[in-house]
Amino acid sequence: PYAGPTAEEILAKRREYLSPSILHSYKNPVNIVEGKKQYLFDEKGRRYVDAFGGIATVCCGHCHHDVVEAIVNQTKKLQHSTVLYLNHAITDFAQALASKLPSDLKVVFFTNSGTEANELAMLIARLYTGCHDIISLRNAYHGNATGTMAATAQSIWKFNVVQSGVHHAVNPDPYRGIFGSDGEKYARDVQDILNFGTSGNVAAFISEAIQGVGGIIELAPGYLPVVYNTIKKAGGLFIADEVQAGFGRTGSHFWGFEAHNVVPDIVTIAKGIGNGIPLGAVVTTPEIAEVLTRRSYFNTFGGNPVCTAAGLAVLKVIEKEQLQQNAFVVGSHLKERLTALKDKYELIGDVRGRGLMLGVELVTDRELKTPAKNETLHVMDQMKELGVLIGKGGYYGNVFRITPPLCFTKEDADFVADAMDLTLSRM
Ligand code: PMP
Repeated sequence: PYAGPTAEEILAKRREYLSPSILHSYKNPVNIVEGKKQYLFDEKGRRYVDAFGGIATVCCGHCHHDVVEAIVNQTKKLQHSTVLYLNHAITDFAQALASKLPSDLKVVFFTNSGTEANELAMLIARLYTGCHDIISLRNAYHGNATGTMAATAQSIWKFNVVQSGVHHAVNPDPYRGIFGSDGEKYARDVQDILNFGTSGNVAAFISEAIQGVGGIIELAPGYLPVVYNTIKKAGGLFIADEVQAGFGRTGSHFWGFEAHNVVPDIVTIAKGIGNGIPLGAVVTTPEIAEVLTRRSYFNTFGGNPVCTAAGLAVLKVIEKEQLQQNAFVVGSHLKERLTALKDKYELIGDVRGRGLMLGVELVTDRELKTPAKNETLHVMDQMKELGVLIGKGGYYGNVFRITPPLCFTKEDADFVADAMDLTLSRM
């Protein structure tokens, strides 16, 4: 049994010793002391179905045996900054990761986070093209360092940073966007930005295939292929931010961009890649990667043996346990269940997403799409009481984000849907 500090004691210490800016979920946050597969346990041994762990990086399930073993074994053998010396962990993983990407995307730079990966990707694009301007999407989240915060396009995540040449295009949001699901119409805005906001040339276009923090928004079909051509004509590169949608989460594909029939020039990866270990990556072509040789580029822990050993173990688990297929099967089932709830409750305005990256948007008026922010918090809290942890997002804070570990079962999915059903029925 757990003999550590209580939730109240931890909260008190957080208030005294941690930054006042750090967030916690729920009015009475849970004190999680253990994780196993898709379940979390609090100090009293109470079990929660973790339907948000995927976003916090776990794809194989909490404390997966193979990943833990790889980490422990490598830690006992060597942990260092291995860019300066030779060690096989980094090359083994780089090769395995490259094999999962299409075409010439086979040169890997390792980082420690998604922010670092996107900062590096934007730097590489700027060097390669000699241009500074970058186009990202409104409602995007790409990180919290200066460049990536500029690319992020939700005021709630932006401090007073210099925009640094980033332009934000109209979001091809099928639910709230002005052109509905007509991706090609939204794509015209990118041409407008090029024509009226830049010299006509840009370094890059960066986007997620499904916006995660933005509230599980799948880019309208047809959007990315048109933008891809527009950006190519402007001399720019396409950066696919796969931090959330990558690594099999969408079920139908290993990478989110694959559902849109485009091949990026640079792919950025983090979160699920390490199953909880700080690890990120930028993958690009040999030709583009060459630009970093112009100066010295060094990242102390990027690609260290322990994290890359973990990464390799994660890839093996995804294949061995067919987690991508599982995300497809269980995700489709869960989406069906949630869609049925939409027919039952007026409060649900939209159910969307792919695989185990699903969103449920709550509105108090379906016509006006008025965000039901308080109701969202209430349902989240009540579901926690029933033993289900889900996330929330979207600019208005009214979208549930359901992104569990990829080992989620049909029974877990039913438990989540039943808990939501029960909570909504009581309102
Ligand atoms: N890109 C996307 C799409 C993300 O969701 C996030 C994190 N929420 C990041 C980048 C930044 O990753 P990190 O928090 O690891 O820096």
